[in-house]
Amino acid sequence: MKVDCEGCAGCCIDWRPIAPEPSDHERRGPRVPLDDDYNLVPLTRDDARALLDAGLADALTPRLWRAEEGVAVDGTTLAAIDGKPAFFLGLRKAPKPVAPFAADPTWLPTCVFLDPTTLQCRIHGEETYPEECADYPGHNLELDQETECERVESAFGGERLLDDDPPDDRSGFLLGPQALGQKVFVFPDGDRLDGVVARAEAGDLTDDDRALFVAAAVAAAPGTTNVDRDRFEDALAEARAADSWAGRALSEWAERAGAPGDSAPEQSLAERIEGNRGAPDTPGWDGMH
Ligand code: SF4
Ligand code: SF4
Repeated sequence: MKVDCEGCAGCCIDWRPIAPEPSDHERRGPRVPLDDDYNLVPLTRDDARALLDAGLADALTPRLWRAEEGVAVDGTTLAAIDGKPAFFLGLRKAPKPVAPFAADPTWLPTCVFLDPTTLQCRIHGEETYPEECADYPGHNLELDQETECERVESAFGGERLLDDDPPDDRSGFLLGPQALGQKVFVFPDGDRLDGVVARAEAGDLTDDDRALFVAAAVAAAPGTTNVDRDRFEDALAEARAADSWAGRALSEWAERAGAPGDSAPEQSLAERIEGNRGAPDTPGWDGMH
């Protein structure tokens, strides 16, 4: 597997607003996400733990699904396992001024950890770097599914996926029952989600709402739908106390942004909104090939 990521970040950005033909690849099949995110990165339980320990729980957000059968909360039937609402934990996106694929600077929903100027990941190679990001697009190649790299190629030309042999190391590759409690989580108590599900549907989750799901992921038991109560409450308190550069930058981006797809100002804003709050620098592309 070999990819050319310079000037791309297609898997870190919701670039549907500038796509010639928007993709809906995350919204096929019987379960439909409640959120409108694109390219959500499903975190593992270990990722969630590392991000919580690093004080970055305020950068995380859940994905719940609407389904024909499951558990009803706030008038919505949620996909469930063993009667408990199922969810992914992912990374939040903020509207940032980015210029992927040689486009002009545009406000686009962008991973909280992407430096909008260099289009590089601020946590690459760190303990907190998600397994899914480290492996991407390896799982797609393994399953013979279209990759985001190929979608970018189709939309904007150029070559992104340079070698499509699946990687040998498949450490983060979890499917079916293996994924339960490690990548697909359950929320232990549907009643505690009263009001939360309505806010999730409205795209209005609060920090406290999101923290509930961080806690449930961290307290999950791999291979089961059990959630350790004590670990859940400890993690919840820790998640609710998170006040990171990433969470603060997200709030300011949201206040300043234009609508998705609107042209954006030059990207020097990023230094003030993210850099001055302590966001890690990225190395730039010189010598990266
Ligand atoms: S879509 Fe592919 S080429 Fe583009 S940044 Fe992601 S992995 Fe790299
Ligand atoms: S964590 Fe880094 S690599 Fe993963 S989606 Fe965010 S910016 Fe991209």
